[in-house]
Amino acid sequence: MGELNTSIQYLSGVGPKRAELLRRELGIETLSDLIHLYPFRYIDRSGITPIAQVAPDLAHVQLQATVIKRTLYGPNSAVVSQETQPIHWGAVKRLSVIVEDASGQMEMVFFKGIRWNFQRLVPGSTFLFFGKPQAFGSRLNIVHPEVDVPQDGAMSQGALTGVYPSTEQLKTGGITGKVMCKLQSAALTLCLPEIQETLPEYILQARALVPLPYALKNIHFPKDSYALQKATYRLKFEELFFLQLSLLKQKYIRSRGERGIPMPKVGPDFHACYNALPYALTGAQQRVIKEIRADMMSGHQMNRLLQGDVGSGKTMVAVLSCLIAIGNGCQACIMAPTEVLAQQHYANIQKYLKPTSVQCALLTGSTTQKERRGIHAGLEDGSIGIIVGTHALLEDNVVFRNLGLAVIDEQHRFGVDQRAKLWAKGPLAGGHGPGGQDSSGQGRIPPHVLVMTATPIPRTLAMTLYGDLDVSVIDEMPPGRKPVQTMCIGQNRRAAMYKFMRDEIARGRQVFVVFPLIFESEKMDLQNLEQGYEEIVKAFPLPDYKVAIVHGQQTNEEKNFNMSAFAAGRAHILVSTTVIEVGVDVPNASVMVIESAQRFGLSQLHQLRGRVGRGAEKSYCILVKDVKTSKEAQQRLDLMCATEDGFEIAEQDMKMRGPGDLEGTQQSGLPISLNIASLAKDGQILTEARLYAERILDADPGLEKPQNAPLVRELRKDKYEIKDYSKIS
Ligand code: ADP
Ligand code: MG
Repeated sequence: MGELNTSIQYLSGVGPKRAELLRRELGIETLSDLIHLYPFRYIDRSGITPIAQVAPDLAHVQLQATVIKRTLYGPNSAVVSQETQPIHWGAVKRLSVIVEDASGQMEMVFFKGIRWNFQRLVPGSTFLFFGKPQAFGSRLNIVHPEVDVPQDGAMSQGALTGVYPSTEQLKTGGITGKVMCKLQSAALTLCLPEIQETLPEYILQARALVPLPYALKNIHFPKDSYALQKATYRLKFEELFFLQLSLLKQKYIRSRGERGIPMPKVGPDFHACYNALPYALTGAQQRVIKEIRADMMSGHQMNRLLQGDVGSGKTMVAVLSCLIAIGNGCQACIMAPTEVLAQQHYANIQKYLKPTSVQCALLTGSTTQKERRGIHAGLEDGSIGIIVGTHALLEDNVVFRNLGLAVIDEQHRFGVDQRAKLWAKGPLAGGHGPGGQDSSGQGRIPPHVLVMTATPIPRTLAMTLYGDLDVSVIDEMPPGRKPVQTMCIGQNRRAAMYKFMRDEIARGRQVFVVFPLIFESEKMDLQNLEQGYEEIVKAFPLPDYKVAIVHGQQTNEEKNFNMSAFAAGRAHILVSTTVIEVGVDVPNASVMVIESAQRFGLSQLHQLRGRVGRGAEKSYCILVKDVKTSKEAQQRLDLMCATEDGFEIAEQDMKMRGPGDLEGTQQSGLPISLNIASLAKDGQILTEARLYAERILDADPGLEKPQNAPLVRELRKDKYEIKDYSKIS
């Protein structure tokens, strides 16, 4: 017993130096960690493409080719150095390597890891190159291919060899792909006898899953592709099963918990606001408010995610929810990710609150000290009922008399820790009273939490990200929203587009023009934006046209000044980077122009498009693409033109990019990290696994029965531990 927990250092072929390297680069400390590092792909000797057959529309290709020539380039494509001269690495921007097989030649390009690749890609040596070919002018190349040394004759034809995640440091430290395979083999020999089955026998039977030791062996060293497939399926199932078990268990615990502020009433302010609404709520809004109301009444803490496409009317739902809190003697706060959004919410909410007696305040980074003092006092004595703000709300000196509800808008912009801070602001258990400075949150009743997001999250991802939350969806748009006509044009249609913009402006409409963040340096981005701005100003000169500009380098004051100029109709065109992406509401704007649209991700494009089509006028979204638009980018643009359904776009987005990249998830992150399963591709397995997890918890919510002890043991692993997640959003 105990091999699994043995330090990696003691495995033959490792030692202290390599152990440190493995720990630092891959987080591997024990043999168990090592054998749970799976190959991310497999080299199949039979899968080598001759260079002559490489085409830009092939997904990924593997070539076996010999290095012919290496060239280093500096800025502006100047050749820095040929083979013989001393090399000034600082000046090198790009490495080009020409490789050749029996059928032809091709170029490999590196912008990173230049020195390392230059040193190992010695002319005359042969490598396996793996990557996505792309057309560059009339030639084909692969940018940043994975480079492997071909395995020697020991491997039989057609055998699958695992390729492990690696880094430059690992390779320079001697842990090449080949060495990694040897280490895995040694570790497996020691560990496999200790491996215990984690899944109940009846699930193995029912799903025809292979036993764990077999799966581990074959994920590293597949006997054949069938064995690999069985091993992969088994490990994915296991991972998703425990993930769901862990999330659902938290949900069960929470729903049985007592701590939650009971809010049995609706109150007069709710009715006053409701009755004065200029429109009827949509069916979806009504349903969602009922769901929220039931949660808030229940005596348990509400933890609800409200999903609704841009423009579906979430603000209204938020306001009515706040008024329920007020109707029960509590306060409410609404947090927005940016100052502009907070201000806009504040302005809208004040309108809704007119028929009520509720006092509302705005607290952001630019609130003056003097105003702040007044607001702090108002929150502490309870005279302020609703506070709208940014992260400023989280500061320790913001103390509520009786915070009953926290609404978090566009939750993905908030860090997990920041949301946890809210908890400490709830009322003390056992009586309404002012909150103190104590930030532990102990002895406090957490406020109800409503998280609103306009990023439509595909079902499989929502099930995982929010497996422990309740989810409400507004799946119906307010009446009168007109579809946004979307088109994609090339640079050659720019003049026609300007004419169209002038026509719309002549009709009294306004236009957004958005530029992407292209370069890594903020300076370059700004340059790019300013060039675009100048071009627009040239095409739309004063005094007939006024053009405002907003970008991330401006002070808050400048941003607000320009934004409000546009919102108030004093500017015809707003040129900006993506700062306007979330939430900004200018109903009179009817045209959204997105420059270099091929550079944007799908969900970002969708968010941007959601900025128009909010008024009574027919609206347009014009996607302007550059000459260099890849096939994938074109697919995104085509999809945008084909549908306005945010959920469909989100599903496609995830399929095209994989969930890790899904916008909005990087920051909040998955509550746990997946080792092998993919939320984009394994939705079916996830659904199956969840069913079993649900069934087990239905029969034994606390997992206390003896037959479930092995499950509990497995859940204790760090990997499945969700750090306070249910308390966070
Ligand atoms: P979201 O925050 O979900 O993007 P908003 O709450 O900003 O959407 O609502 C978008 C627009 O629709 C606002 O101008 C709002 O006044 C309007 N609106 C909301 N609900 C309705 C409704 N039921 N009927 C008509 N218009 C509505
Ligand atoms: Mg909104």
